[in-house]
Amino acid sequence: MRNKRKGPLGQATWAIHGDHPPGVPGDPVIPPEIRSSTFMGGGPDGSPVVYGRYGNAPTVEALGRKLALMEGTESAIALSSGMAAISLSILALVAQGDHVVSSRWLYGATHAFLTRELPRRGVESTLVDPLDPRSWKAALRRETRLLYLEMPANPTLRMVDPRPIVALGQEMGIPVVMDATFGALANFRPVRWGVDVVVHSATKYLGGHSDLVAGVVAGSQGLVNEVEALLHLYGPALDPHAAWLLDRGLRTLEVRVERQCRTALSLARWFKGHPAVAQVLYPGLPDHPDHHLAQELLEMGGGGMLGVVLKGGGKAADAFVEALGLAALAPSLGGVETLVSLPRLTSHRGLSPRDRQEQGIDEGFVRVSIGLEDEADLRNDFAQALAVLDGAS
Ligand SMILES: *Cc1c(COP(=O)(O)O)cnc(C)c1O
Repeated sequence: MRNKRKGPLGQATWAIHGDHPPGVPGDPVIPPEIRSSTFMGGGPDGSPVVYGRYGNAPTVEALGRKLALMEGTESAIALSSGMAAISLSILALVAQGDHVVSSRWLYGATHAFLTRELPRRGVESTLVDPLDPRSWKAALRRETRLLYLEMPANPTLRMVDPRPIVALGQEMGIPVVMDATFGALANFRPVRWGVDVVVHSATKYLGGHSDLVAGVVAGSQGLVNEVEALLHLYGPALDPHAAWLLDRGLRTLEVRVERQCRTALSLARWFKGHPAVAQVLYPGLPDHPDHHLAQELLEMGGGGMLGVVLKGGGKAADAFVEALGLAALAPSLGGVETLVSLPRLTSHRGLSPRDRQEQGIDEGFVRVSIGLEDEADLRNDFAQALAVLDGAS
């Protein structure tokens, strides 16, 4: 059949159609979920071995192709969690005796993987100040095999210009791996800035409905093959049902992120004008330290995450989240429902108050993941919770 589609297509179109050929009458409009754990083949005719743990079952493999088209990489693979994507993509690039240079701003489990788990396997990591390009260069060793970066950072939403780091990687022949979970794929496209390997926790914006745990590694075919080889051994394959749900989530990614950016900007401005609020961290506001970089790098707006620092410190933050009626207190982010969390009790509880302060995380810091509710309802909920603080002080 003649393929009537002319590529290349836009990201929102890839998100909906992937590389499925146009159908014929009687075809399902939505690709069915294929649950089978194993598939006929592996015979003397040379037919391939298709098996759930290999990551090549049809529902999971089609998702990988869609993600590569959306991310703009040669290949991609979906795995059973963001940490599976992060750990396997790093393990694919290092062996005993090798060395990693990474930004200090890291998701907690990634930090533990680099500083506790890899050393047990004879791989050292040096964590650097990501904003100082010289610190990356100074940390390089002959054994350095990858540069690792996470951006925008959790929970301060600080941004790093990837260009000098990418230039250094290219000069030295070392790939740059970026955790772009907070960029939500639709809002930030790391490969446009030369990043070699993109990893996501698809649990967040890509799935978008807080109903699955998944991860993505996107990069060259060679890198994805290496990750696949490790998948055979370690086994964090994505279940077909989670793959099907993730595929469905991707179809609405762009409109979700667009709306989240709009509501977040409006609420960031509103929080800023409230007397109980000491500071609002949002890349879409002119007073964010990386506002100009955000304007250059982010494609839809400042994103759906906000940091709200309350004047009353930890006590006020606790009272605020307890008083909320609509926004729910829960870890994770990027879903259709608005969630709040307290970094001092969750993602950054392992640090002393002083170390947190150094990272810009005040005791009164409330992280907000903006959902898709009516903006006025969210504003009313936040307003009544802040009013409780007024009464308490
Ligand atoms: C949640 C998260 C992860 C880990 O993802 P899981 O899907 O929970 O394994 C990694 N990096 C960032 C930035 C995250 O927010």
